[in-house]
Parts: sequence; C-alpha cells; structure tokens
Amino acid sequence: MIALGIEGTAWSLSIGVVDEEDVIVLENDPYIPKEGGIHPREASQHHSERLPSLLSRVFEKVDKNSIDVVAFSQGPGMGPCLRVVATAARLLAVKLKKPLVGVNHCLAHVEVGRWKTEAKNPVSLYVSGGNSQVIARRGNRYRVFGETLDIGIGNALDKLARHMGLKHPGGPKIEELAKKGKDYYLLPYVVKGMDFSFSGMVTAAQRLYDSGVAREDVAFSFQETAFAMLTEVTERALAYLDLDEVLLVGGVAANKRLQEMLKIMCGDRGAKFYVPPRELAGDNGAMIAYTGLLMYKHGYQTPIEKSYVRPDFRIEDVEVNWD
Ligand code: AMP
Ligand code: MG
Repeated sequence: MIALGIEGTAWSLSIGVVDEEDVIVLENDPYIPKEGGIHPREASQHHSERLPSLLSRVFEKVDKNSIDVVAFSQGPGMGPCLRVVATAARLLAVKLKKPLVGVNHCLAHVEVGRWKTEAKNPVSLYVSGGNSQVIARRGNRYRVFGETLDIGIGNALDKLARHMGLKHPGGPKIEELAKKGKDYYLLPYVVKGMDFSFSGMVTAAQRLYDSGVAREDVAFSFQETAFAMLTEVTERALAYLDLDEVLLVGGVAANKRLQEMLKIMCGDRGAKFYVPPRELAGDNGAMIAYTGLLMYKHGYQTPIEKSYVRPDFRIEDVEVNWD
C-alpha cells in the first residue's frame, strides 16, 4: 500500500509518499519569514501558493494512480495553515477517489520515529517550535506526561536568537554560538511537577544579553538550563513508567547538545536512546503519510464531513489500536 501525506501545520509545507517499508518521495517547500517569527496568515498564503507546484513535483516522481490513501495533518497547528492543507487533501482524495485520513501531527512525529529507529515502546521527547511534550503510550492511548506550560523550546530558542539579531530559525544558530560559550550564567530553572516553562527564561536571557553578556555565553547558558529541564522530566517519566527507551523527535531533535544530555542520562539508567534521521525528525510530509497508512490499515478513515481542522488536536484524543 502507498500513502501520500501533506504536512503544513506551521512553517513547513511538505509532501511525502511512503510505502510500508520506506519513504519513496519527500518534497519540501518551507515558509521562511523575511523578518520576525512565523506569521500565520503569511504562512498560509505561502502554503496555498506553493501547494500546487509542490504536488506536481511529487507526481513527477510517483504515479498518482499508485496512491491508495491521502493523509493530512489535521492539527494541532495554526488554523489558517491547517485549512489550506485540509482543503488540498480533500480535493486530492475526491479527485483520486481514495480514502482520506486526518492525522494528529504529534502522533505522526512519534510513529515515524518508531518506524525509522529500533524504539518499540519509548518515552518520547517531542521538541519543536510550537510543542514540547514528554509522551508515552499506556494501553490504547499515547499520554502526555509532561509539557510546556507556555511556549515550545524551539519557539524559545527562536525568540532569544531574534533578540540577539539572528534570523529565523534561530535554534541552529543558538547551537553554534553555544559551542563557543565559556561562562555559565544562572537562568530560571522552571520545572513544576512534570511540566516546564520557557518564557520566563527567555526574558531573563534577553536581559543578560542586554546587560552586555556575550551572545555565546547567553546561548550556552540557555541551552544548558533548558535542556537540563527537558532531560530531568524525561528521566522522571522513564523512572515512573519503568520504561527503558527514549525517542527524541521534533525539529529541536537536531541539536547535538540536547542529544548528548539525553544520551548521558540514558546511559546512566541503562536505557536506549534513539533519534530518527534529521529529515524525518522535524515537520515533514512523510511522517503524515506513514501515520495515515498505519491508521488506514487499522480501520481509520476520515469522512469529508469530519475532515475539519483541529488547531487544538491532542495526541490523547486518538485511540491507538496498533502495536
Ligand atoms: P519543527 O516545528 O518540529 O519542524 O521544529 C522547528 C524548530 O526547530 C525551530 O524552532 C528551530 O529553531 C528548531 N531547530 C532546528 N534545528 C535546531 C537545532 N540544531 N538546535 C535547536 N533548535 C533547532
Ligand atoms: Mg512538529
């Protein structure tokens, strides 16, 4: 069976085609803001302008008649962006006369990670622009054991970078700067039970920079603090749930220092650490296609009248009936 998946919850516009074994095609046309952060309306305009040509690129590489299922990211995400993607997916499904499957974006991150690594029943740390969650499966649901109380870690890194004059996306730039940092400055370490918060830290780090601390040291101090918070909560979830695998997913999974901290923690506990290939860790169409395929094989379909967008769609809302 072959599935096509469209991702477009925020900045990433991406179409993937997969079969049960592997990714066949993955084409991306991301929205990159000229200045500032991601503007939902501008991003959605970008998506609607670019979707037709992106789809043509995909159909140059795969025969459209080979597609068995059309999947799309139904949420969570930015309303205007989700609407563009849902509209395109509905049209495509009707035109190809194929079933439609609305996919939860967070679930797709976790499932593509399980597909492309050896992780079987991991604690997943999902870290991206808009989301930061510690997720694990209990019975027939994935549950969120801890999450950010305000902004996602990626968004926090992007905000801090922007304040220091660096362009979006700031995460990779902060990572480069942090490698050259020497002095650690104390920042608020905010873990409340299993939840955490980044917005106060961003403000404190911005103040450090404004007071004349070098960008490298600000970046270093920020990463060390924020990533320690994420590692702490992930470790606690591992211990409580008595699991022995950690899966790191989301755009921020590319960060080598975060990977290193989690690896050390896993090593100390005798747990295994997994991270999918970079192009499948961040937002991408292949994860939507794969999860759509998995769901379809297990009896899921989204009738057109139920294919409305779900900006607040939670991973817990999906009943999981596969292994
Ligand atoms: P996603 O929404 O999952 O695609 O993730 C996008 C976010 O990942 C953005 O906020 C980026 O700044 C962030 N990001 C990408 N690469 C890195 C990196 N190497 N270190 C930290 N953050 C990163
Ligand atoms: Mg994401």
